[in-house]
Amino acid sequence: MTALLGGRGKGYGRYRPEAMRLDVPRIRRATMGGRQAQKEAKMQRYDLAIVGGGILGLAHALHGARAGLRVAVLERGARADGASVRNFGMLAIVAQRPGAQLDSARAALSTWQEVAAAAGIAMRRAGCLFVARHDAEMTVLEEGAAQAGSQGHDFTLLDAEAAHARAPGLRRDTVLGGLYSPDAWKLDQRGALARLSDWLARAHGVAFHFGTEVLAAGEGRVETAAGSFGADHVVLCGGEDFATLFPDAWAQSGVDVCRLQMLRTAPQPAGWRLGPFVLGGLSLARYDAFADCPGLPQLRAHQQAHQADALAHGVHVIAAQEEDGSVTLGDSHHYGADAAPADPAEVDEIILREFGGMLDLPEPAIARRWVGRYAHLPGQEVLTLAPAKGVTAVTVTNGQGMTHGFTIAARTIAGIVKQA
Ligand SMILES: Cc1cc2nc3c(=O)[nH]c(=O)nc-3n(C[C@H](O)[C@H](O)[C@H](O)COP(=O)(O)OP(=O)(O)OC[C@H]3O[C@@H](n4cnc5c(N)ncnc54)[C@H](O)[C@@H]3O)c2cc1C
Repeated sequence: MTALLGGRGKGYGRYRPEAMRLDVPRIRRATMGGRQAQKEAKMQRYDLAIVGGGILGLAHALHGARAGLRVAVLERGARADGASVRNFGMLAIVAQRPGAQLDSARAALSTWQEVAAAAGIAMRRAGCLFVARHDAEMTVLEEGAAQAGSQGHDFTLLDAEAAHARAPGLRRDTVLGGLYSPDAWKLDQRGALARLSDWLARAHGVAFHFGTEVLAAGEGRVETAAGSFGADHVVLCGGEDFATLFPDAWAQSGVDVCRLQMLRTAPQPAGWRLGPFVLGGLSLARYDAFADCPGLPQLRAHQQAHQADALAHGVHVIAAQEEDGSVTLGDSHHYGADAAPADPAEVDEIILREFGGMLDLPEPAIARRWVGRYAHLPGQEVLTLAPAKGVTAVTVTNGQGMTHGFTIAARTIAGIVKQA
């Protein structure tokens, strides 16, 4: 490790990202004394080492194992602790642009269905209801419904009464109508990831090393605080955090970080149900499924005039009911690793105001608040780089990794297997 950390000079022993560019063969030659050679002989070796146990890491583990590779997942947390367990648990087929994006989401859904059945993951076809509170929103919903058939989406336009029947918590005095799709599935975020990793270990022999932070990765091996691992190929699935291991590649890619605020209510009274995912008009302008609606510019102008503070904080309203009856509410979007942090209380207030305009929750008390982060590249769904020989870094850049992760991973693994 001494050589990796830059020798005994200033800062010896401290983690310094700029010193992490590996020349593994040189290091091997330089350090292969008697004890080192013994360690090397004992070093655990895999065909594929995956850094990160979020959904993308697990999806790569699945496809790697299915391709016959001996796979290890190295995760610094006691369990996955990134975006994959901080989201809505929504497989959002409904939000995809027709064509390659929708096909990718559908393919990933079919893998989710397969692994959920095998791994005992609860997966509910919750459906999704976009709600309109004013005419500009209703126009976009009508246009979305009119285009749906030709675009491969299953949308039904609902009047206020029918929308209320789907989601009894909707306010009767403000909601004009809605657009319903059955094509959204709900997962229990933390539970799904934990069960998926347990099943990958059990059924596919994937070796999980939790509590293992990767400090450097290069051709043929990864270095962790707990020692070295040998691997023919390394796939880095560290979410928005591959800047730490490969700062130059990260900086050159132009990728940015998005920070999101989320809230969760206390459990609602027994028997009360939200119904489908409920989304407000602010979401219409953000989802590609509505990108071709002619009424979108007018909706944006309306939002600029009446919801400018929500737009400034990238607020996008989604409500999802969890297994314990609580309701997850979100979210905001702040871009840029160096952006001055927004006032969290102000952002929460805007999110709650937007929900209050369309939903009446019997238990409005907020029990939890958290922040999630993901990598972001405008107009791009995934960033795949080769920052070092034998290393592939993959990060989802459109904030929909739960929906697309399995398809993305299948592509990466096919590329690695083809090269081998
Ligand atoms: C608030 C929020 C809501 C969202 N809602 C949805 C949604 O409803 N539907 C949807 O499809 N997508 C949603 N997304 C996006 C989705 O969650 C992400 O695209 C996806 O989880 C990314 O998965 P990942 O595995 O790449 O990253 P992560 O889940 O962030 O996992 C990365 C893992 O790598 C580990 N790691 C990082 N560096 C190292 C290292 N050096 N050594 C060891 N381990 C390391 C971390 O501990 C972490 O567990 C949402 C995201 C957020 C933040």
